[in-house]
Amino acid sequence: MTTDNALIYLDNAATTYPKPEAVYVAMDQFYRAFGGNAGRGANPLARKAAALVEETRNATQAWLDVPAAVFTSSATIALNTVIMGARLRAGDCVYVSPFEHNSVLRPIEHLRKTVGIEIRRLPFNTYTFECHLDEVRKLFRLEPPAMLCVSQVSNVFGVRLPIDELTAIARQIASQSVIIVDGAQAAGLHPLDTERIDALIWSGHKSFYGPYGIAGIGFGTEWRPEPFVYGGTGTVSESIDMPENGASRYEAGSQNIVAMAGLNAAVGWLRDTGRETITAHTSSLAWQLYEELEALPGITTYMPGNPELATSIVSFNIDGIQPQAVETALGAESIAVRAGLHCAPWAHKLVGTIDQGGVVRVSLSALSSQRAIIETRNALRSLG
Ligand code: PMP
Repeated sequence: MTTDNALIYLDNAATTYPKPEAVYVAMDQFYRAFGGNAGRGANPLARKAAALVEETRNATQAWLDVPAAVFTSSATIALNTVIMGARLRAGDCVYVSPFEHNSVLRPIEHLRKTVGIEIRRLPFNTYTFECHLDEVRKLFRLEPPAMLCVSQVSNVFGVRLPIDELTAIARQIASQSVIIVDGAQAAGLHPLDTERIDALIWSGHKSFYGPYGIAGIGFGTEWRPEPFVYGGTGTVSESIDMPENGASRYEAGSQNIVAMAGLNAAVGWLRDTGRETITAHTSSLAWQLYEELEALPGITTYMPGNPELATSIVSFNIDGIQPQAVETALGAESIAVRAGLHCAPWAHKLVGTIDQGGVVRVSLSALSSQRAIIETRNALRSLG
C-alpha cells in the first residue's frame, strides 16, 4: 500500500491523504448519476439518495460495531452535540484525559463557565503515557463522574488510551455517567467494548479515509442527547417539534450526501483492506521511524512506553530548533508534517512541550510508504 506522489504527505492525523481511489470515483459518480436530496420527496433521485444514506449508515454502524449512528458535518459538531446535549448541571463532575482536543476542552470549559460543571483531569504518566487506573478508581469513588470524555487515540502523541478499562471502571462506580469517546483519530480501527460507550465520535476525513463534511456519533447504548441543531428533516413535517426518535432527530437540514457517497466507498475499502492490515502497517512504520530518530543525535521523541499502545504518530523535537522551523525545513524537501500544539494544549502541558511551541508531528496512514520513512530520516539527519 503505497503512493507515488512526489510530495511525501505525513500529516494524516490532520486528514488522511490521498484517499482510496474508490472514494474519488464514488463522489464523482454521485453528482453525475444520483444528485437528489434524501428524505425530500419520492422522486427517483430522492429515493436513490435516501437509499444511499441508509446504506452508508448501515455500513458505518457495522464498521464501528454500534447499533445506531447519526451523521454530522464534523467531529467538532458531533462532540458539541453530545457534550452540550447531555443536560449537565452545576456541580456535575466531568472527567477528561490530558490528551483531549480543543473540540472537547472548549465545550466543557464553556459549560464550566456558564453552567458550573467541574472539570477533572485523569492521571497519566508523563513519560510512558500510561493511565493510573487505581488512582482513577479512587477519584471516581470520591467524586463520581457525570460524564467521562476521553480520546481513543491522542492526535499529538498517537498513544492508544485504555478505553475498555476506563469505561468498565466508570460503569462499575457510576453506572449512569455519560461516556463519550472521541474516536476522531481511530474509530473503527481498534476493537472497543462499544456497549459501554454512549457516544463514539468519528470523523469521515480522518480514520475513515473518506471526504470532509461527514462525521458523526455512534450510539453504543440507549442514551441520547438533546438535539443541538433544529430544523427540517423531511419527516413528521406537520409538527414544529423535532422528531422524538431516530437519526432524523439529529440530522436537521439537507444532508451532505456526496460526502456520504465517498464515505460509503471508504468503508467498503476499509472492510476489504481489514483493520489489522491497516494498524499493523501504520504502527510498524511509526516504530521504524521512531527507531531511526532515536539513532540521530539531538532528537527527543515522545512515544508511548508500551509499543503496543503506539499507533500511527511519531512526535519529536530537535534540540535548539523550533518545531515550526523543522516543519518549514521538511516542507522545503517536499515532506509535509505538522508542528505546533495540534489543538491539544493539555497534552503539551503533561509532557512539558508547551513552552517550546509544541512538537513536530509525523502522522502515517495505510497508504504511507517505507520510502517516506527513509526520506524523512535523511532530511532530518541533514538538519541536525
Ligand atoms: N478530536 C480529535 C482527537 C482530533 O484530532 C480532531 C481533529 N484534529 C477533532 C476532534 C476535530 O475534528 P474536526 O476538525 O474534523 O471537526
